[in-house]
Amino acid sequence: MSEVLLNYIKGVCREGAGADTFANENPSKRGSELNRAQASTEADVEAAITVASAAFKTWSRTPVAHRQAIVESFLGALAAGRDELAQIVSMENGKTIRESRGEVDSALLEGRHHLRQVTVFAGESAPDPDGDVTAWEQYHPLGVVGVISPWNYPMNVMCRKTLPALLTGNTVVFKPASYTPWSAAFMAGLFDEAGVPAGVFNCVFGRGSSIGNRLIGDPRVRAISFTGSTEVGRRIQSMAAAGFTRTQLELGGKNALIVLADADMDAAIEATIKAGFGCAGQWCTSTSRVLLVPEIAEAYTEKLLARCAAMQVGDPLDEATDMGPVAGASQFNAIAASIEKAVSEGANLRCGGISDNDGGYYVLPTVFDGVTREMSIFREEIFGPVLALSTVKDLDEALQWANDCDYGLSSAIFTRDMPAALRYVREIEAGMAHVNIHSGFKTPELPFGGWKDSGFGPPENGLTGLEFFLERKAVYIGAT
Ligand code: NAP
Ligand code: MG
Repeated sequence: MSEVLLNYIKGVCREGAGADTFANENPSKRGSELNRAQASTEADVEAAITVASAAFKTWSRTPVAHRQAIVESFLGALAAGRDELAQIVSMENGKTIRESRGEVDSALLEGRHHLRQVTVFAGESAPDPDGDVTAWEQYHPLGVVGVISPWNYPMNVMCRKTLPALLTGNTVVFKPASYTPWSAAFMAGLFDEAGVPAGVFNCVFGRGSSIGNRLIGDPRVRAISFTGSTEVGRRIQSMAAAGFTRTQLELGGKNALIVLADADMDAAIEATIKAGFGCAGQWCTSTSRVLLVPEIAEAYTEKLLARCAAMQVGDPLDEATDMGPVAGASQFNAIAASIEKAVSEGANLRCGGISDNDGGYYVLPTVFDGVTREMSIFREEIFGPVLALSTVKDLDEALQWANDCDYGLSSAIFTRDMPAALRYVREIEAGMAHVNIHSGFKTPELPFGGWKDSGFGPPENGLTGLEFFLERKAVYIGAT
């Protein structure tokens, strides 16, 4: 019998109200069971919200320096646990061990940013509005906040939401993705080790479709920070609207890379490989559409195909592996169906497809060309290692095609022509624009979020990553 990961509520690992559990499969070994996790019920969510609500009274009044010290100690524990956690992430998610270490490093970088930011982030003061009045703005934490995270960055995304929430004095109920419960349990252990007081951080495992509504609909939960699909985000938004619950939604993407005739071709190819096939194409900021001008379309395609053929797909724990399996059975089936659909709609499959290695959920680096705007592969997020190449006349048409999409998360262009690059930066309808850098590049000082169907509410990181978790109050002090 595998170990069962238990909910972490009020500072202890607790059995849930029901006896159900679900398996955590290693996607590089079909049918395996790394461990199991509790399939929580609404009663467990209710218990977590109740303790988080009680803990808020003290935590919200805890001096910021004390909250910072706890988060600093959490980051120390995270740095110390880097290798162990990276192994866990690779085993349950399938990304390569190098990518998993990179994920932990990214969480450390962002965490240190939030740690610094909380002390310099303060309200405005106003010039005397009435001769004898002193006026300023101050911030207050919201209360209990719900964090719902995806499996593709199972520890980094939860940190990007949870640390700003805790630093600003809120308490948290965290619901991890069901594909990746082990890294969530590990993170709960780190918060415990860092001395986060009981009830301030709580983790409840279980299917989003069965316990999500309980978290979103509870009036004590003042905000939901969610990363996941556009479909679930839309559902959360409509439910949250009924209770005026604040939302921060980081959703899907169909990110375009434009390559112009004067591009540094080798750099463009490396950026395509990194952002197209990193985490087996399962970044929200993955490059998934490539728009090529005719002068370089053939040369780019040939180089890309040669590069794909050299990629090593296999065991994510092997240091030499370039790409691991996709995250699990449902992901694999959805990607396989998208590849079939692209073929049936007339796109040319140039390389890749499903791997012969059926020990795990392996998809090869896959490239289609001849993709037109009408095809599903041009419009629908696949969330797998599948690139759609289209040839466009020029920059005008590239921008039209890039923007002809419901999503608007990230994007990139490769060119040495500065006016062309600046025009792209101005006209691209996306939350992130990259010139001569791959579409997944980011830094914590700048906002991380999407336009159109890729996001809603204040983005993570930047200034809004903290501000999302705060209420504002305007204060006026008269002379007598
Ligand atoms: P998902 O199915 O939307 O799941 C995301 C999270 O929501 C999981 O924890 C899931 O729980 C939970 N959930 C599912 N149904 C729910 C409901 N009715 N109420 C509340 N929570 C619910 O997305 P995914 O397949 O895990 O992740 C892939 C998607 O995330 C892609 O579209 C990708 O682009 C997007 N993404 C976006 C960003 C960004 O920053 N913009 C970053 C990473 C990923 P269960 O696991 O239990 O179903
Ligand atoms: Mg798993």
